[in-house]
Amino acid sequence: MNSMRADHISPLEIFKIGIGPSSSHTVGPMLAARQFRGAVVSYTNMQKQAETSLHVTVELFGSLSATGHGHSTDGAVCAGLIGLHPQESGVEQIWQAMPNLQTEKKIDFDGVSIAFDPEKDLKWQGWTIDEKVLPHPNTIRFSLFSGDKLLLTEVVASVGGGFVNQIVDGQTIWGSSGKETVAVPHPYNTAAEFINICEATGLTPVQVVVRNEAARGLSETDLRKGLLRIWKTIEECIDRGLVTDGILPGGLNVKRRAKSLYEQHKKGTKPVWSQGDLRPSVYAMAVNEENAAGGRVVTAPTNGSSGLIPAVFRTLKEDHNLTEDNLVDGLIAASVIGALVKVHASISGAEVGCQGEVGTSCAMAAGGATVMLGGTPRQMEQAAEIGIEHHLGMTCDPIKGLVQVPCIERNAMGAVKALNAVSLSLASDGSHLVSLDRVLEVMKQTGLDMHQKYKETATGGLALG
Ligand code: SF4
Repeated sequence: MNSMRADHISPLEIFKIGIGPSSSHTVGPMLAARQFRGAVVSYTNMQKQAETSLHVTVELFGSLSATGHGHSTDGAVCAGLIGLHPQESGVEQIWQAMPNLQTEKKIDFDGVSIAFDPEKDLKWQGWTIDEKVLPHPNTIRFSLFSGDKLLLTEVVASVGGGFVNQIVDGQTIWGSSGKETVAVPHPYNTAAEFINICEATGLTPVQVVVRNEAARGLSETDLRKGLLRIWKTIEECIDRGLVTDGILPGGLNVKRRAKSLYEQHKKGTKPVWSQGDLRPSVYAMAVNEENAAGGRVVTAPTNGSSGLIPAVFRTLKEDHNLTEDNLVDGLIAASVIGALVKVHASISGAEVGCQGEVGTSCAMAAGGATVMLGGTPRQMEQAAEIGIEHHLGMTCDPIKGLVQVPCIERNAMGAVKALNAVSLSLASDGSHLVSLDRVLEVMKQTGLDMHQKYKETATGGLALG
């Protein structure tokens, strides 16, 4: 039973520091593997008599199996099993975990050595589990055996954005911290409710979130400190991407373009229309190229769509002299949109296609930027609605299962759309025909109707070459 509500989701859950190339196929599986490691350690500590011939298996199902090679799911699982964390551990250390395990073929679980050979213990499975339909397209089963005897098993779903849900008896249990049981002063679960709160109380969108987070135990100081760290990581990622060239890994021979495009921009290449300089596209591509290379990125709300918010916010920061506080406000407002999509539709390409990733990040960037520039709650909602509406139906068909084509350029295009959505909403009074709540219903239904081959399986569309 999934009891998640939009006001349960913290900005610091929407924006997470991690590694590329995918939040659902890399960050989520790594966190899930690390969580299973904790369960194994607890289990072995509780045993009076040590079990013998212990070994661990990891089964990847559905989309994780179909595109996991291209998304480095195997490497991420290995890193998680040895206890590494996507945010806290070094990028090189993370990617060295699998080569090390391929040689050592065993893992130290706090003093207990357990066999794990990535070649045979990591299994790429199909679209059923025990002959039943998968509970989620990104399902993973971790198991601990003593010889043939099953000692411990855990089934989880990586549902996008680095969020991991437990599956119990085929039902999804939202994997949160438990803070969702805390009553917040301004409860909301829809965009309409959120706007009503702002208008009835006179609070800004940022103030509503800050007050709710404080009730859940996160002070405004800590919230802002956490988000500033997020913003600095984003800027570092853009800056690395702007000075790095070469070929992206994975075998597609995709050339990194952000550096040379940025050099053209600095030389004064004239845009084809007066406001259309290359910066938003270049910043988005810089981040997504870092992501595709397995580098340090922030989920926004996913890794595949991680370039769009950085691109929009960095461009507006430069053009409007925005302060760090303004940018943090923008991230807070953007997180409200991300939470609404997560609850009422999905931020997973494997569930609803790319409309859930780039569509969502476009809406978040547009809504967040509108607030940063002084827009009203209704203008924020309008900008976010425009951002989603014009991505409805967008499929996820990455070539070779790599988060490169169409993903990198798609973030650039989405960033430009988001800036246009901000301009349109700020130039109006926020009234519009289709509400954000309605467009999320449509997005969800469109995702349900979408053929599986267009949902991160690399079996349809551009993926066919
Ligand atoms: S096509 Fe979109 S949803 Fe699919 S991997 Fe790329 S960015 Fe993610």
